[in-house]
Amino acid sequence: MLPVIYFDANATEPLRPQARDAMLQAATLCGNPSSVHQAGRQARKLLDDARKRIARHFDTEDDNCVFTSGGTEACALAIHGLQQENGPRRVIIGATEHDAVRQACAETTILPVDANGQINPDDLERTLAEDQSPALVCLMLANNETGVLHPVAEAGRICAQYGALLHIDAVQAAGRVPVSVTSPGVTSLAISGHKFGGPKGAGALLLAGGGARQLAPLFAGGGQERGRRGGTPALPAIYAMAAALDAAIADQEQRTQQQTRFRNRIDGAAKASGSVVIGENSPRLPNTTSLATPGIRAEARLITMDMAGICISSGSACSSGKIGRRSHVLEAMNTGELADCTVRVSLPWNVTEDEVTQFISIWARPAR
Ligand code: PLP
Repeated sequence: MLPVIYFDANATEPLRPQARDAMLQAATLCGNPSSVHQAGRQARKLLDDARKRIARHFDTEDDNCVFTSGGTEACALAIHGLQQENGPRRVIIGATEHDAVRQACAETTILPVDANGQINPDDLERTLAEDQSPALVCLMLANNETGVLHPVAEAGRICAQYGALLHIDAVQAAGRVPVSVTSPGVTSLAISGHKFGGPKGAGALLLAGGGARQLAPLFAGGGQERGRRGGTPALPAIYAMAAALDAAIADQEQRTQQQTRFRNRIDGAAKASGSVVIGENSPRLPNTTSLATPGIRAEARLITMDMAGICISSGSACSSGKIGRRSHVLEAMNTGELADCTVRVSLPWNVTEDEVTQFISIWARPAR
């Protein structure tokens, strides 16, 4: 069997060893964190510890970290909960948001992106100025397909000026670039453990500080998470998510430098062999590049790479299984026919130089 080169980290990152150890530790406890007896208290201790560590990384109080099953639920909880709690609001989203946001909103005003994949804060300001009814703005910090980073700090200042709530989908950004829920204008922020080396099945919604924030639950259940998310929390996955985040933030700076160098090597070689880098002129996640090769369809490229032992994807993990559906991200960027020839390369936290060299030599092979 060929050794697998896994360059699909934006679908899910490999599990970090610290997360595996933490998961096993928490899985051996049998108590339910809501039980008052000692077994319950032991479990509660780990849950509280995870909450404290995660909240601290995003500059908010422990009480403002609500555990969920992942990024999709965290975004849905924000969109549903903030509107229930603050009254109905019109929802404004970016054109390249993930389906986790797009599918959670009944009706939206969509902010366009430019050819480099970024929203323009002026469009947000104009939209809020034209219709001053209460608004909820949902923007991703980093795009999952292109890695393009959006100007959310500026969006936050504009939202604060117009009294709009701002939910940030930081699922691809957390652990990779600095993220804080205390930036001006930000109301909430979604993260997902498996995108930074934790196991699948745990995420969180972080709420801006200033005392425990109320939030109407999607399902009330037994009133867990201060009534904001019912259901027994997935303690092993949550405790492991905290360990993964600690590790990801500890090596973030060094990893950013290394991955930027690797990504630049890949971009340079891909361009030399006739490929185009989508979103190249925007600031991007250090681990992500979106490559289009005119004349080579994405499916053909994926199969060739897979046969050579390299895992990449043709878009988001959720939509790539749906044959014939063009990426709404690439359509919003007006890439035209290139959209059919675009693949996503996303480097994992444990990528090596040797893997990058092998990737480049296989990418440059003439298509058969
Ligand atoms: N938001 C973004 C930007 C994502 O990339 C994803 C998953 O790929 C999600 C939300 C959903 O996260 P999860 O799969 O943990 O539910």
